Amino acid sequence: MADEQTGPLPVVDFLKIPENGDPYLEGHKCTECGAIFLDTRSACSKCGARDKLEALKLSNRGTLYVYSIVHRSFPGIEVPYVSAIVDLDGGGTVKGNLINVDPDPEKIPMGMPVDVVFKDALGRKDKEGNSYLSYFFQPQKQSQ
Ligand SMILES: [Zn+2]
Repeated sequence: MADEQTGPLPVVDFLKIPENGDPYLEGHKCTECGAIFLDTRSACSKCGARDKLEALKLSNRGTLYVYSIVHRSFPGIEVPYVSAIVDLDGGGTVKGNLINVDPDPEKIPMGMPVDVVFKDALGRKDKEGNSYLSYFFQPQKQSQ
C-alpha cells in the first residue's frame, strides 16, 4: 500500500490536517467528567473512567495562561522566543510558541486572548523533503 503524503506533515499527533479544510487541534474528552487531554489514552487520568474518551475538535481561540521568554536554545533556533501555555475556549490546555509579539513581559499580559494559527514549522523538513505544519499562538486582532 502506497502511503502518499502530498501536503505538509503535522509536527504533533494532535494536529489534524483534513484533506479539505483547515487544520485544527484535536483533543480527547472524557464523557464522564469532561476532562480534556491532548494525547490518546484509554483511561481518564482525572476520574479513572475507561474507554470514555471521545475525539474532539478544539477551539482556535484561547487565553494566555502562562508564558516564559526563552533566551537560550539550541544552535540555529532564533531567540528570544515566547513559550506559552494557552487555555483553549471550551477546554484543552496547549503549550506552544507565541508569535507576532515583542518578547517583552510588559507587552504580553497574562489572560490575553490569543488565536491558534497554523504555519510551516520554520523550514524543517524530513528526509523525503516533506515540510511540517506546526501551530502557534498569536494575539487576537483587536476589533477597531
Ligand atoms: Zn474523566
